[in-house]
Amino acid sequence: MPYHSDIHLPAAARHLVYALAAFGVSGLLACAPVQASGTPAAKPAAREASAPRMPRHLDPAAPAKDYFGAMKEPAPLASRAIGSYAKGCLAGASALPVNGPSWQVMRLSRNRNWGHPALISFLEDFAAKAPKVGWRGLLVGDLSQPRGGPMTSGHSSHQIGLDADIWLTPMPDRVLTAEEREKISAISMVKQPQDVAGADRSVDPRRWTDTHAALIRLAAKDQRVARIFVNPAIKKALCQFETGDRAWLRKVRPWWGHDYHFHVRMSCPAGSVGCTDQDEPPQGDGCGTELTSWLADGPWVPKIDPETGKPPPVQKKRPLALAALPKTCGEVLTAR
Ligand SMILES: [Zn+2]
Repeated sequence: MPYHSDIHLPAAARHLVYALAAFGVSGLLACAPVQASGTPAAKPAAREASAPRMPRHLDPAAPAKDYFGAMKEPAPLASRAIGSYAKGCLAGASALPVNGPSWQVMRLSRNRNWGHPALISFLEDFAAKAPKVGWRGLLVGDLSQPRGGPMTSGHSSHQIGLDADIWLTPMPDRVLTAEEREKISAISMVKQPQDVAGADRSVDPRRWTDTHAALIRLAAKDQRVARIFVNPAIKKALCQFETGDRAWLRKVRPWWGHDYHFHVRMSCPAGSVGCTDQDEPPQGDGCGTELTSWLADGPWVPKIDPETGKPPPVQKKRPLALAALPKTCGEVLTAR
């Protein structure tokens, strides 16, 4: 798997790009304070014991995901979320232990249970409260890579240790094996495929329950949470569910996918210099015209090109180059 392979230094030998200078790493040795917040209590079983190979020369033009995806340990620097959710990195990450009293981390082989300590403590608090709304415990999906940054697969955000995916499947009443955590599939909450014209973009009432809604409400009411992303069908169900104070609904935003899991995004923690918050969500509960437009065919059904009779080809996004990230991310990569 790409994230377990040794780091590739694209054309480093030819270019001899001494990007350490370009990324302002000169002061690096002088500024490597040991992480103040707790070191991880448990590590994913699949992680290799050998020390990671650190890049000696960074090519600013190389895809940042190649570097960050190869990092196996956090940067031993003060904890800091750097940059923005989809363009940044993470120093001094903590790991969410793979098992807690009311959570289990899934897909351990991905080594993505790393986050800013503020995210880890939120998740521990949230997991502890979940049983009080009738949810046995959390199955936790991806947080961030050990040093954050763009990922080798999936997500465009999750880069600064402040995003977490939580399955819409409750934790079973036993500890899953590592193999089960790789193989068990999450269950979609949507009624039918959404990319079909005229589809009923609602949750499946055989799967979706008020407990699912209460769990998302519990997360949204936490002051530390900036946004929660869910499928528009789920947003619609939440709009119908709430009969009292609707203020929390403002934080719950409709987005593509997110029918198997919901995505919790924390605000920048105090002390994270260079962490960029997203603009506040629009005023209101978001249950009106914005949601209606998400539930129509428009966003989902591919438009046919009259000339070719086919949908237009999907434009592949170019991967983010290392140079697109904040300069400090060069230090985060090379810190040892
Ligand atoms: Zn997500």
